[in-house]
Amino acid sequence: MIIPQDKIDEIRERADIVQIVSEYVPLKKSGKNHVGLCPFHSEKTPSFTVNDEKQIFYCFGCGTGGNVFTFVMRQENLSFPEAVRTVAKRVGIDLSLPDKKISGEGNQRELMFLANHVAQDFFHQYLLTSPAAEPALQYIRKRGLKPEIVKDFKIGFAPQGRNNLAKFFEKKGISLEIAEKAGLINRGERDFYDRFRNRIIFPIADVKNRVIGFGGRAMGNDEPKYLNSPTSPLFKKGEVVYGMYQARTAASNKGFVLVVEGYFDLLMLHQYGFLNSVATLGTALTAHHIRKLKGYAKEVYTLFDSDKAGKAAALKSLPLFIEEDMHARIVLIPTGLDPDDLLQKQGAQGMAQYIEKAKPVMDFFLDCLRIKFDGETPSSKISFLEEAASYVASIKNAATRDIYVEKIADILHIRPDAVLSTVRAAAEPLSGKSRVRHAPTANEIISTGDSIKAEELILKIVLAHPHLHDESVDKAIEMFKTDFLREAGRLIINALRKKTASSGSWTKAELSALIDSSNDDKAKAWLLKTSVEDDDSVKEDPKRILEDCCRKVMMASRLKKETSLLLKKLEEAEKNGDMNSFRSLADSYLTMKRMNKLQNKS
Ligand code: ZN
Repeated sequence: MIIPQDKIDEIRERADIVQIVSEYVPLKKSGKNHVGLCPFHSEKTPSFTVNDEKQIFYCFGCGTGGNVFTFVMRQENLSFPEAVRTVAKRVGIDLSLPDKKISGEGNQRELMFLANHVAQDFFHQYLLTSPAAEPALQYIRKRGLKPEIVKDFKIGFAPQGRNNLAKFFEKKGISLEIAEKAGLINRGERDFYDRFRNRIIFPIADVKNRVIGFGGRAMGNDEPKYLNSPTSPLFKKGEVVYGMYQARTAASNKGFVLVVEGYFDLLMLHQYGFLNSVATLGTALTAHHIRKLKGYAKEVYTLFDSDKAGKAAALKSLPLFIEEDMHARIVLIPTGLDPDDLLQKQGAQGMAQYIEKAKPVMDFFLDCLRIKFDGETPSSKISFLEEAASYVASIKNAATRDIYVEKIADILHIRPDAVLSTVRAAAEPLSGKSRVRHAPTANEIISTGDSIKAEELILKIVLAHPHLHDESVDKAIEMFKTDFLREAGRLIINALRKKTASSGSWTKAELSALIDSSNDDKAKAWLLKTSVEDDDSVKEDPKRILEDCCRKVMMASRLKKETSLLLKKLEEAEKNGDMNSFRSLADSYLTMKRMNKLQNKS
């Protein structure tokens, strides 16, 4: 039996996190918070912090955090429903469980799979047979997809009307409540209506070919262009790998899996015979993805655009692969081309050439360092070595580590033992976290000098003063450069929309409820950390600071767009040998860069 959301909320309201944590960890009052020794890592001075007001905890030592349910889950090694029941018992709420609760929950999952399966067939048949789906079919053809692929991936079309699918479910005897839980339909004031309307539908299956969710591409100008299933017991966007079922055999035969981001990119790769390909749902690769892929291939190849942003994204994946101890290679494809475009322009052979040239992610990183530091002068050698050492130090496989020590020695023309001693120093565990902190971010390497201060301030102010939230805040958050802050912002906005009282402050449980609704660990950790921190920066005139920051974020985003446009023109002028426009463009570009820098500084 699934515990109803309102019950969960009631339990959360009634529970007192300080009291419950105190049963496991002795806590001492310190300012607004309670602190104690963290039960999740070993420490001598307390960095484990519990906030009574917001009903959350966060450890500054190991980054573990969450609400009362998260704590009990971690502490007692329980699933979410089990933790909810445990807390319910402590606070005296009767959930009057039927004995077979587990099988009841299992049943729900099966029913959700069934609803998804029925929906998949409905959409697919609709695409193939309904005259109303003709524009969608034409679009698919125009994108170059063959009928076999449409069939293999069961691509479909969700009709335009309000509740075609809901009605179909009724006819088929599928429970609308179950379909709602699976994220297929939404509950309106009077009736249920379809989540996906007038969209090309990509069913997303797990490796057993059970449909766990859907992606829908808008046919017209509807926003968003791509709509995915909401988070459900079956579907978590940041963990899902699209095409895993179709790719599994080829991936394990070839020993590697190719990862792209988009639906069409993935489908094209399969059409052109790259059967070992999968896609994330338009997001960067996460640790969850990598863990999923581990079971099927020894190595991951990720495709990136060879422009600056693409290279930065590729570098960002390095610590992730090292942390997950996964071999990875970077496939760089020509600037401005999607994998989809590339296949259509250069065919399978063209793509195969780029794949063949794929570099291990660590070598790619060293190449970038080589460009950043010339490695000729002693000081540039040292800088090179320092940046490289922290990563090499964290490579888990000793043989691989040695290989890179040799490589670096070779690049810098110094003795391997000099490299080794720097690597050892970098590995010295001041604390487990320090090496992560020393490791340069992708942005530092590419040196765009991003400032996330404005983004953080916006979120802090909205957290502290929810009534200041307005449309321009929403807009600014969507323009954030920092992925996890954007995600954190979206979570806050969602929570604000759900708030019963439109003004005033957060109720005790609202913030802690927010924690359950996200899968993004970084966003969650940021929210938790910020909520327990005492921060004076937003105490005075928050409204003005908020407005300033929003303006700044929007400016930065506009500047970024304009800069990249200029850069493209600049490259063109260079290619055409048009020196006059090249010079004037270069002028504007440099001005723009200076403005960018000023932006980031202030
Ligand atoms: Zn800890």
